[in-house]
Amino acid sequence: MAIAETLEKLSNACGVVGREEEIRELMAKMLKPHVDEVKEDKLGNIIGIKNGKKNLPKLMLAAHMDEIGLMIKTISKEGFLQFTKMGGIDDRILLAQKVMVHTEKGPLHGIIGSKPPHIQKEEERKKIMTYDELFIDIGAETLEEAKKMGAKIGDPVGFDEKFARIGKDIVIGKALDDRVGCAIMVETMARLKKVGCSVYAVGTVQEEVGLRGATTSAFGIFPDVGIALDVTVAGDMPGVREFEAPVKMRKGPSLSVADAGLITHPKVLRLLVDTAEENKIPYQLETGLAGSTDAARISMAREGVPCGTISVPTRYIHNPTSMLSLKDVENTIKLTVAAVQRVPKQF
Ligand SMILES: [Zn+2]
Repeated sequence: MAIAETLEKLSNACGVVGREEEIRELMAKMLKPHVDEVKEDKLGNIIGIKNGKKNLPKLMLAAHMDEIGLMIKTISKEGFLQFTKMGGIDDRILLAQKVMVHTEKGPLHGIIGSKPPHIQKEEERKKIMTYDELFIDIGAETLEEAKKMGAKIGDPVGFDEKFARIGKDIVIGKALDDRVGCAIMVETMARLKKVGCSVYAVGTVQEEVGLRGATTSAFGIFPDVGIALDVTVAGDMPGVREFEAPVKMRKGPSLSVADAGLITHPKVLRLLVDTAEENKIPYQLETGLAGSTDAARISMAREGVPCGTISVPTRYIHNPTSMLSLKDVENTIKLTVAAVQRVPKQF
């Protein structure tokens, strides 16, 4: 499956929030063959444009390129790196992770250090270590050596995880939130026939710290319709109640009716549901999620834009490694392509 290769490249690329250079370059390369023009805006969003007729509505697709990570805050005399978090990270997942510190001199391997169980006291074993008590060990002996290796305050840190296929249709990897949206957007642009209306495929920056790239790119483009391609919580695992997270992996893309930042515009929801029904694409409806997507900001550009979100059910979001089904990816591409083709008819 070609989409698995695209997703593998995107997942393995680095793009910690605010430092999206590598992933942006890759996205520009991937979009280029399928659009009339690729441009980068001032904040660093990458925009692939398929030009259409002027009198037809403009459509904006958005998938965020950035990933959650860490940032070096201080370096100790002994050469250990202390850090702050970039994006929503649960402290409990940090301990003992392998990370990459991205310095100007190149990447450095590191591990988030912890005391081995042999020397932990009973109380220590029960306690949750918060991020400010942890440190990254890059093997430096002193502050000077850490600096010489390239480490400095403000360097972005990503999780050191590689993409893998672990089942017939199941993949695991870093930053699937939202590299899977990026892969779906690239593939959608590749499969689109003549649409009539202009389509803007935007790889956004800084989503994980407050949907910032979507805010500026939507202002610049000012589309008539906006669709965010992202991930949502798949709750089909032990310990999660149906009510908390009813969306399941392998059951098709999820259409959000409302989340913390957006009530999907009725016309957009109609477009997505009708498209799925008519093309017999499985889908799930979802509401009440605490998070939000780029669509929330696109919808508030200038005097407002009807928006919706199509999400891939993903297990273990915001962990160093997440999991999803390529079947859901394929169905999300089918739905997105068919929905885009219908925009001139329904808007
Ligand atoms: Zn996301």
